[in-house]
Amino acid sequence: MALFVHKYGGTSVGKIQRIKNVAENIIKARQRGDDLVVVVSAMSGETNRLVALAHELQEQPDPRELDVLLSTGEQVTIALLCMALHQRGCPACSYTGGQVKIITDRAHTKARIVNIDTDRIRGDLSEGKVVVVAGFQGITEDGHITTLGRGGSDTTAVALAAALKADECLIYTDVDGVYTTDPRVEPKARRLDRITFEEMLEMASLGSKVLQIRSVEFAGKYNVPLRVLSSFVEGPGTLISYEEESVEQPLISGIAFNRDEAKLTIMGVPDRPGIASRILGPIAGANIEVDMIVQNVGEDGTTDFTFTVHRNEYKKALEILRSVHTELQAREIAGDDTIVKVSLVGVGMRSHAGIAAKMFEALAKEAINIQMISTSEIKISVVLDEKYLELAVRCLHKAFDLEKPRDAVT
Ligand code: ADP
Ligand code: ASP
Ligand code: MG
Repeated sequence: MALFVHKYGGTSVGKIQRIKNVAENIIKARQRGDDLVVVVSAMSGETNRLVALAHELQEQPDPRELDVLLSTGEQVTIALLCMALHQRGCPACSYTGGQVKIITDRAHTKARIVNIDTDRIRGDLSEGKVVVVAGFQGITEDGHITTLGRGGSDTTAVALAAALKADECLIYTDVDGVYTTDPRVEPKARRLDRITFEEMLEMASLGSKVLQIRSVEFAGKYNVPLRVLSSFVEGPGTLISYEEESVEQPLISGIAFNRDEAKLTIMGVPDRPGIASRILGPIAGANIEVDMIVQNVGEDGTTDFTFTVHRNEYKKALEILRSVHTELQAREIAGDDTIVKVSLVGVGMRSHAGIAAKMFEALAKEAINIQMISTSEIKISVVLDEKYLELAVRCLHKAFDLEKPRDAVT
């Protein structure tokens, strides 16, 4: 008998009627004879609502208490889904993350799963029940509720699939697969039949929020076959799997973008050893993650240094730079929190030159100025003014022929 893990996102369980439809989908899968473990998110908008309530009280609520609050959203949907299943005569039992012993570390609001005890789930499955588990949450060894970071239900599903050695993990959402880019920005985006773990990981870390980054990491590490598909329309979705040697890879698989970027520049600092660490040391000390870093070629013994951070950390980073300004003997400090990052991703890039040139040419044709560039083996990212985001994504989508069927490239 095959075992599948299904995950239904917030939109898919956003109303009672939708929860009924999910129950219907589960019953259909059971009629094929499969064992099912189902992970659900909170109803759409609920986690945001809870975050807003907390912030009405306190600018920086205690992370432990925030987790107690945020984990309630998923507790509502697991119970409602079980009721919908019972109504259709399908045996089902709901569990919070803590109840099925999804053990995490103590990093409240961004905890990592360290262990899952599958005994209880297996027991219920053997009694013919559908097991419904709350996504996005776990518990520490000593019993404190934790959450896994926004979008974390994807990771709950993949981690359960890995622990239970499920045949496949199906992520049901409001799009019918992974697209060449976010279809909300480029309506001509095309669904991919397959994408490699490596590419999906890049896409997710460069801003494609269709899957949480950690869920892709987990799936790659434990080789969990992962599929993204629609909870509203039937279809094969997109399979995320290892690269197949025999298949020639298209140059570019997709375009990711991130609107949550901000950049900081420190101008006219002395061009001598140790300066980069003296700038970034205090930033790291404040737990601010730095993404791109560019240092210009020095002139007249001084140089300019630019780096990017998450927009939420922009003000904090700027304050830190201002506080070390004199000590660094810098001429000026500047910042911009209206920038975005647009990235091309594709394993085919490894063996092809000229992708960057083609990318820059396409952007130049639209008179889009590139502020920063960074590359790695399978991606090229550029930083742009946010007003160019849509135009940049669409012109690159066209320039790299992403609208054509993927097969036509091979
Ligand atoms: P869920 O609530 O089901 O977890 P999410 O909102 O987290 O759903 O993820 C689905 C959304 O991801 C889509 O509605 C789409 O706008 C967005 N998205 C971003 N990039 C992509 C992409 N490359 N392919 C498909 N969807 C994408
Ligand atoms: N409900 C959580 C969120 O909105 C987790 C999830 O949906 O995956 O981030
Ligand atoms: Mg999601």
